[in-house]
Amino acid sequence: MYNRRKFIKISAAGASLAALSSYAFGKSSILNPPPGFPIVISTWDFGIVANQEAWKTLSAGGRALDAVEAGVKIPEADMKNHTVGRAGYPDRDGHVTLDACIMDEFGNCGSVAAIENIAHPISVARLVMEKTPHVMLVGDGATQFAVEQGFKKENLLTPESEKAWKEWLKTAKYSPVMNIENKQHAPGNQYNHDTIGMLAIDAKGNISGACTTSGMAFKLHGRVGDSPIIGAGLYVDNEVGGATSTGVGEEVIRNVGSFLVVELMRQGYSPEDACKEAVKRIIKKKPQTAKDIQVGFLAINKKGEYGAYAIQPGFSFAVCNAEKQDLLVPGKSFY
Ligand code: ASP
Repeated sequence: MYNRRKFIKISAAGASLAALSSYAFGKSSILNPPPGFPIVISTWDFGIVANQEAWKTLSAGGRALDAVEAGVKIPEADMKNHTVGRAGYPDRDGHVTLDACIMDEFGNCGSVAAIENIAHPISVARLVMEKTPHVMLVGDGATQFAVEQGFKKENLLTPESEKAWKEWLKTAKYSPVMNIENKQHAPGNQYNHDTIGMLAIDAKGNISGACTTSGMAFKLHGRVGDSPIIGAGLYVDNEVGGATSTGVGEEVIRNVGSFLVVELMRQGYSPEDACKEAVKRIIKKKPQTAKDIQVGFLAINKKGEYGAYAIQPGFSFAVCNAEKQDLLVPGKSFY
């Protein structure tokens, strides 16, 4: 059961109506896409605009991989977004370090962790996947690779982020706030985390996913969360479906959350039940910790059915296909 927080008319949202109707009238180069496809889902309210961007690729018959990369670049570029990408809050030493990963329908994957001075870590992750024999590059090595690939080195610490960091330094208390994405414009708010995880199925029925974040604000320098870890923050198996996560990454890593969700779907769980089971696993292992943190999972199966579940209320996700654009809130959470 999901409650609809917002319904956005697709025509008003910038998705191409011509491209949408081309399926109906058989003008698309992709003939007879399965019903409900293409589809894209992503975490939090900022998933709406990210989905709109991904939809441009999907509705034109493009590949899910291209769609998810383009989609998550929108929150990565958003200067008001302090939990993802170039305007992300720094670590406790004032470094903006970003984490991202991407996975395609063939099981290829690429990842960067704790990368600095590069505004679009998701695109670097894709190049790690496509141009190297490796899966993951971290820190200076990731930045060096990005520069070699033509990315521009930039100072990502915005005046606003610097101000928030200096304010935080006054007490230097590490206390992540839950569901911050929904509150991030609240005055005085400075502790935050959230991630965009996106999963798409293209008109050919192929699944890809992307996940990108600045992680926990004011984290220890060098801290890496779940988001760039394949199997934790993101996992895709083109035979089964895909899953992604948001929330306190340490708990997701401990339970290899997204892999768990996909494996549960393989066993026949619905996307929502698989997400719920993964949440329960986290709570069972650390009931005391779980009471005060947020973790949310979002999943889609091969049929295009999707679902989500979170420890706490407040999690939202965005869905976009030819019929609708919705922002949904899971009707249930563990607490
Ligand atoms: N999962 C992210 C991390 O731990 C943060 C979040 O999604 O809230 O880095």
